[in-house]
Amino acid sequence: MFQQYIKEILREYDRLRQQSEDLKKQRREEVYRRVPRIKEIDQEIARLGLMLSKSIIEAPGESQQLMDRISKEMENLKEDRAMLLTENNIPLSYLEKVYHCEQCKDRGFLGNGKKCACFKQKLIDRAYNLSNLTNTLDKENFHSFNIDLFSTEPYGEEKRSPRQNMMHLLNTSEGFVMNFKDPQTKNLLFYGGTGLGKTFLANCVAKALLDRGHIVIYQTSFKMIEVLEDLRFRRSQNKEEYNLLFEADLLIIDDLGAELTNSFTNSELFNLINSRILRGKKIMISTNLSPMELAERYDDRIFSRLIAHFDVLKFYGEDLRWEKQ
Ligand SMILES: [Zn+2]
Repeated sequence: MFQQYIKEILREYDRLRQQSEDLKKQRREEVYRRVPRIKEIDQEIARLGLMLSKSIIEAPGESQQLMDRISKEMENLKEDRAMLLTENNIPLSYLEKVYHCEQCKDRGFLGNGKKCACFKQKLIDRAYNLSNLTNTLDKENFHSFNIDLFSTEPYGEEKRSPRQNMMHLLNTSEGFVMNFKDPQTKNLLFYGGTGLGKTFLANCVAKALLDRGHIVIYQTSFKMIEVLEDLRFRRSQNKEEYNLLFEADLLIIDDLGAELTNSFTNSELFNLINSRILRGKKIMISTNLSPMELAERYDDRIFSRLIAHFDVLKFYGEDLRWEKQ
């Protein structure tokens, strides 16, 4: 999956370098039109440069005097050129190549062969764009999670107060992020009413993983079934959206149970969940349905996968009204 994005990014770097090359040419032409003397100086500098390298190759060490003279002449020309530019209010940097990244000069790789930070950032940006989450993650992440919102009072029959419970959920979610690549790490299933922080916590996990360079896809179950149906019934040619559901490093299915279920959706859903489990690709599910209701709603094959391969985590407490309905 990543290979395809890496190829696209490398092509993007090619385009960026071509752009700065074109821009440089364009600016040079512009400056030559405004100050024709600069063109002459550039030609003269180029001629001297050629002479200099020739004399180094043909008579090394012999014509030190000549070389010094050429060097001096070049220096003078460069000074004249700088002066002319300044007199004409043209910044010295105007004729230099402009790179988007000075570090790697828009190559994506550093001298030591390692990926430049800008390359890594491009991969992350791409993953963000694919995730359907770009807008919410600034506000909803582990750093902005406020545990104080949750009550320390006992809640109904629950052993833990809502705050203790939320600490447990936070811990489990952070553990999920830390051990994301470990095949032993179970998937996560959040259940409970709306306004209890399920979506918020799912977004925290999504952001943490995106920032580590994983591809995360967020989809409501309703929209997800649409994508699966569209491709199956050939209403859509957009195979990428479909493939991402299977191939993203993490698939977040929000609001499971809100989709219309029938035998088709059941078998598509099973196919998706099962194939991700078999390939060790992680899933996070949030739902308003209790495990009992899930058992009634979905066929046994799906339900048994959910019980066996997911940490099933309950959200309870007062509706905090912070989640988008
Ligand atoms: Zn760079």
